[in-house]
Amino acid sequence: MLEKTGNEATAIWEDDNVRPKEFTIDIDSGVNLRNLLITLAHEMVHVKQWAKDEMYEYMNVSGLVRFKGEKIHLELTDYWDYPWEIEAYGKQLGLFVRFCEYMGFEREDMKEEA
Ligand SMILES: [Zn+2]
Repeated sequence: MLEKTGNEATAIWEDDNVRPKEFTIDIDSGVNLRNLLITLAHEMVHVKQWAKDEMYEYMNVSGLVRFKGEKIHLELTDYWDYPWEIEAYGKQLGLFVRFCEYMGFEREDMKEEA
């Protein structure tokens, strides 16, 4: 997926652009379990953003997104400055760690090189 699309993962809504409740997450399978779960945590933050209407994609204006009340032009903003990405990157590791604790995964099995 990474080779074909340049994306490691995507999360998109399937039902509606207003408070969607149905999503598809695609993740590159060529990574280890640790990175797969961290990526899944990242994409689940995006699902939360869509489902809670924090994130809204304007269908009549291409490349315009509303995030927590702020209008963001995708073309005029750097990927790393997208507030939804700042939130997702900020939360992914904590969600992953707590998920592993909840599941009782051994720390040894979840090391970066595993
Ligand atoms: Zn993201």
